[in-house]
Amino acid sequence: MSPIKDQKKLVRAIIAALTKDKKKAVKALNDLTKEDPLQDPAHVSDNAASDTDAFEQSSHERIESLQRELTERIATIDHAISRIGEGTYGICEECGVQIPSDRLTIMPTATVCVSCEQKKEQG
Ligand SMILES: [Zn+2]
Repeated sequence: MSPIKDQKKLVRAIIAALTKDKKKAVKALNDLTKEDPLQDPAHVSDNAASDTDAFEQSSHERIESLQRELTERIATIDHAISRIGEGTYGICEECGVQIPSDRLTIMPTATVCVSCEQKKEQG
């Protein structure tokens, strides 16, 4: 098999993985929105039980931070998919080297190579 065919096969597998991941994240995000007690309009004018409010407030905050994570994840996936479309997928955004396919298989949304990521983490 030629390296180009390998690359195409890898990209196809990555698109499939990213699409699946995105679906999961979107579904989780929708489920979370339903779970959020403060999304329920019936609770807005109900301030009788302050204990319940505190509990609802903390689960609202937990849900909000999960929502932020999922939204970020979806954006990262979209970014990776758009880079595939542009033909720049798999190229390090920092230094321009080809990111090894091993890394992309494990982390399909990676946009920088290992050494650039380490540099980022350090400072
Ligand atoms: Zn790099």
